[in-house]
Amino acid sequence: MASGAGLGRRTRAVDDDALKHARRTRQYAGGAALRAPAPPHPDLEPAVTDSRDLPDLTTFEGVLFDLDGVLTPTAEVHMRAWKEMFDELFAAWRIEPAYTDRDYFEYVDGKKRYDGVASLLRSRDVEVPWGDPSDDPSEDTVCGVGNRKNVVFSRILRSEGIQPYPGSIALLDLLQAAGTPIAVVSSSKNAVEVLEAAGIRDRFPVVMDGVVAERDHLASKPAPDVFAEAARMLGVDPARSAAVEDALSGVRSAAAAGYAVVVGVDRGVGADDLAAAGATVVVDDLAAFVD
Ligand SMILES: [Mg+2]
Repeated sequence: MASGAGLGRRTRAVDDDALKHARRTRQYAGGAALRAPAPPHPDLEPAVTDSRDLPDLTTFEGVLFDLDGVLTPTAEVHMRAWKEMFDELFAAWRIEPAYTDRDYFEYVDGKKRYDGVASLLRSRDVEVPWGDPSDDPSEDTVCGVGNRKNVVFSRILRSEGIQPYPGSIALLDLLQAAGTPIAVVSSSKNAVEVLEAAGIRDRFPVVMDGVVAERDHLASKPAPDVFAEAARMLGVDPARSAAVEDALSGVRSAAAAGYAVVVGVDRGVGADDLAAAGATVVVDDLAAFVD
């Protein structure tokens, strides 16, 4: 799939004026940091949507939000939990070299929990049995180690809580004042726990999460199932509703479910790639809808 970012890479050799122009255009369009400078092109609009062109989300039948990275900066807590767990494990099992953030991005990030464990251990030539998801966190299996990480994650959440993005809270306030129905559509099995730690669980009458999806045998994002089913639970028509996502798989899921508007929140994935995946508008923070 051709994306604007790809186009930028292929045509990197443009003159400085063109780059400066692109940079000005992008910054004006939403203040997003320019990651892959794209030269001006007649068919290539800046992917971050001009705030004047953003739809009024209160006019939709419903607005359905992804959680991690959209409402809460959960990735940081996951990263810390992995580090704490692996630091302890490496010390106990005398594994070297020590676990680093680089390991997180190389072996763990973006993978399912147990796949991340297996991949990281393999990088240190450590083999343990796979085990079973029901394994106790104390068991020395891939699943047991993965479950240990979940225990640490929950402990950090409980002890420190998590601050939702202020721009996201401002948008939730706006929608609630307007009486627009809202829901959460998350792949995470920790979604309710995260919502509670963030102090926003009560705002959502419908939470479609990894627990519900597994129970109801719904295919995970990027399949449309979870966004389609959450709309049904909320009693809204996707064709008259908006979805908000920060991940490519989530954007694809909402687009496939037929949402009228798919808002891509660029927390680092890249505005061009979000647009190419099906985001109809891209912002770098949900405050853009409130200003
Ligand atoms: Mg997300």
